[in-house]
Amino acid sequence: MTPLAVVAATANPHKLREIRELVVGRLELLPRPADLPEVVEDASDLIGNARLKAVAVAEHTGQPALADDTGLFVDALAGAPGVHSARFAGPDASYTDNVDLLLERLQGVPPEGRTARFSSVMLLAWPDGTELSARGDVEGMITDAPRGPGGFGYDPVFVPSAGDGRTFAQMSDEGKHVYSHRAAALAALLDRLA
Ligand code: IMP
Repeated sequence: MTPLAVVAATANPHKLREIRELVVGRLELLPRPADLPEVVEDASDLIGNARLKAVAVAEHTGQPALADDTGLFVDALAGAPGVHSARFAGPDASYTDNVDLLLERLQGVPPEGRTARFSSVMLLAWPDGTELSARGDVEGMITDAPRGPGGFGYDPVFVPSAGDGRTFAQMSDEGKHVYSHRAAALAALLDRLA
């Protein structure tokens, strides 16, 4: 089967690398056009933001577009940072700023209260308005300090419950894919596409 060519609706190099690894042989991922302005992600949920990003790219390029919207939902913070994960510490926050703020907000919370989950919605939008989407979740907990050199975003402070105690940032990409929200969402999307 010839892989379906889709335009990536994300320019985040970390996400792109993971998505590319996860869709090998199934989707041909084309780069997001550099001249397309960033989409304002002001929907109230992950699927809404994924739709905003994918539709903008599909309309601009006339080709199907694949968007990923992801959030980290921390129980002790009533689900924050959630849909605001990228901007948790402010509009220009770095990954480190966001992680630092998260650890600060969780100071004094014991291990059993540090439960959280990553959720990803992957949405494929066609220029004619049709769409296909799938969600993936991974349960875990937030450490009390960053651990590991790999990954991106909140990976250094997230330990998946089904793993062996390592954070996502202490795993290889392949190791993270065994548990990750993104891998689960893409597997479900590819199933539906088939
Ligand atoms: P968005 O989907 O681009 O809105 O991403 C939200 C934020 O969540 C990103 O800026 C990252 O900080 C974080 N994020 C997304 N995916 C992951 C992941 O797989 N691991 C760790 N952090 C992630």
